Amino acid sequence: MQIRKVGLQFILLTIASLTMSGQTGDLRLRDWQPKSQLVVKETRIIKPRYPVIDIHNHLKVLDKTEYYLEEMDKAGVWICVGLDGLSENDFFKEHLKASQQVAKERFLIFFSPDFSKIDEPDFGKKEARKLAEAVKMGCRGLQIYKALGLTLKDKSGKLIAVDDPRIDPIWAKCGELGIPVMIHSSDPKAFHNGPLDATNERYEELTQNPTWVYYGIGIPSKEEILDQRNRVIERNPNTTFIAAHVGGLAEDLGRVSMFLEKYPNLYIDIDARIGELGRQPYSARKFMIRYQDRILFGSDTAPNAESYRAHYRFLETDDEYFDPTPAHKFQGRWMIYGLNLPDEVLEKIYNKNALKLLNMF
Ligand SMILES: [Zn+2]
Repeated sequence: MQIRKVGLQFILLTIASLTMSGQTGDLRLRDWQPKSQLVVKETRIIKPRYPVIDIHNHLKVLDKTEYYLEEMDKAGVWICVGLDGLSENDFFKEHLKASQQVAKERFLIFFSPDFSKIDEPDFGKKEARKLAEAVKMGCRGLQIYKALGLTLKDKSGKLIAVDDPRIDPIWAKCGELGIPVMIHSSDPKAFHNGPLDATNERYEELTQNPTWVYYGIGIPSKEEILDQRNRVIERNPNTTFIAAHVGGLAEDLGRVSMFLEKYPNLYIDIDARIGELGRQPYSARKFMIRYQDRILFGSDTAPNAESYRAHYRFLETDDEYFDPTPAHKFQGRWMIYGLNLPDEVLEKIYNKNALKLLNMF
């Protein structure tokens, strides 16, 4: 009896202290899950206004290929690009085969070089030859992961820069073959600039993924990595580059505009960044209209109808203050606003620009 009484007292005390902490402002961040009281329009878009080409996806769980296609069909996605056609162990051959067996016209695979061989003599030439072979077999572009410039090291222990001359023959070969390069360089500013402290705008995301904190561990700055990438783009005017994630700098559309003005062979995609674009809707809308011929649709999220629909809501409607998480994953603690893009802009972003770069026009 006595024990029960103590237990009850304990529960009451806990509830009281929780209520108190709420009142005194001591609520823990992870316990704060506010529900918006706004009453605003909510639009549900099942299919996009124009057929979609998803230029940035990862489809390497090959036994899920049929499932991917079902989700694409549900969400009106016409073509999905799988970026993981790895040169390593000739995985690209397996990937091509699996995708082609399910739907040859609906899945396109990009080839990704094997940088673990960078120290071998003639690495660039050899890998460029392999790329040409892969393209003959059906690969449609080149993929560069963010590890280049960020974590990949050669045998001497030095980080491999994006503009390492040993890679040059590969960039040139892409120009010769007329295939685009998808290149992911650096991550959101919050991962690079400054420590993980109370001022970090992606504090919660980074505490859940501590290996994404690049500050203070000897990794070149975000600016340096973007400079390396831009030097490659500049040195290879005959090669088309798609700089992933809004050119790697979605937080600063003014700078991305400067990149686009400076390099006519540069395109960007929007994947995994509608959270960034949607929190600056006036700037983002102007930017997307202005560069409507240079922007491609991508999701960077394994095909999933609800993820695609969240993208459509963002691009097509003027809905206000909604959560971007279903489009990709939790990033920062903020809501987004729809861009309500004009039809001709939507059509270019959804498929026309990609058709051009993939030589399908
Ligand atoms: Zn990706």
